[in-house]
Amino acid sequence: MLIRFNKPYSTGNEHQYMTLAMQNHKLSGDGDFTKKCCRWLEQHLQCRKALLTHSCTAALEMAAMLADIRPGDEVIMPSYTFVSTANAFVMRGGIPVFVDIRPDTLNIDEAKMEAAITDRTKAIVVVHYAGVACDMDPIMALAAKYSLIVIEDAAQGIMSGYKGRPLGSVGHLAALSFHDTKNITSGEGGALLINDSHFIDRAEIIWEKGTNRSRFFRGQVDKYTWVDIGSSFLPSELNAAYLWAQLECASKITQARLNVWHEYHERLQSLERAGHIRRPVIPDGCAHNAHMYYLLVQNLDVRTRLIDHLQSKEIYAVFHYVPLHNSPAGLQYGKQQGELKQTEHLADCLVRLPLWVELTNAEIQYITDEVRAFFDH
Ligand SMILES: *Cc1c(COP(=O)(O)O)cnc(C)c1O
Repeated sequence: MLIRFNKPYSTGNEHQYMTLAMQNHKLSGDGDFTKKCCRWLEQHLQCRKALLTHSCTAALEMAAMLADIRPGDEVIMPSYTFVSTANAFVMRGGIPVFVDIRPDTLNIDEAKMEAAITDRTKAIVVVHYAGVACDMDPIMALAAKYSLIVIEDAAQGIMSGYKGRPLGSVGHLAALSFHDTKNITSGEGGALLINDSHFIDRAEIIWEKGTNRSRFFRGQVDKYTWVDIGSSFLPSELNAAYLWAQLECASKITQARLNVWHEYHERLQSLERAGHIRRPVIPDGCAHNAHMYYLLVQNLDVRTRLIDHLQSKEIYAVFHYVPLHNSPAGLQYGKQQGELKQTEHLADCLVRLPLWVELTNAEIQYITDEVRAFFDH
């Protein structure tokens, strides 16, 4: 039984919607499907404005422009994240200041953030790892105290919540990903979500390559022209049409993934009790989206052997982020706040198990039986 790590789910409507987009004879961005997707995100994620982008990386780059990051400005973020979280700010001359993570959720440790604030600090970027929310209340309070902008890297967080609020609706700005490896996908894709409405006008300009084209189409100015920095951030209508099919089924997809997640969680409980592994922790008040199922084992050696064992049984489990703070570019462009002990340790111990919509209970049983067999020997 060969079990791949990821298998993007298709709802069956993608083809039809892409054909419709082609029949509309408008494949560039900001057509009907883009507008439908933006409206859906605004309604379901309760943000003031959503702008589709061609990736989460692009949405983070837009956020860095909107936060007006200038050379030497410091941006607080975790080291245990994807490179784009940092790169988007480094491209504006910003300095990532890496803060350690919490051992329970692997999210940035809010208790260690205040010590990282200096008079150069401009923004905080939080990453909702595995679609499980960061503790946003103390983070927003800290940001208010020091007048900092909070950007949620919610790449993994669509359809998750924090104390009843959708992820992506809590910070001033947020970025979503629709990459093939995420819960809702368009191959490559993303969105910028804006909650602080004073960013909306400038966000539209940056999105439209630095022009006031959006205002022109609304009849608010009589010609459109170059007014600010910007770039090409729109996805084509083909991608938006594909995404629309996925967004329509977002609840169904999330529920199916949660079923897989809970099946793993139950089957692995005894291994946790026996002290071999630690299972994911979901704090009170967090509603997650089953983006990931991971285990934490004792150390790097056990992890390497577990992944090898599973691979010998044709089960493709993987490790995840290599921390950024001690990577070549992290050392060159970033700074670290104190020691990042949890980051360094947990990054070595984490194993992600296959998780996709059509994974069957029989396959999950096979996987968890092989995890158990590994620890039994
Ligand atoms: C996937 C991911 C990204 C990048 O998303 P793209 O859409 O591929 O640009 C950024 N941050 C995090 C935390 C991610 O998981």
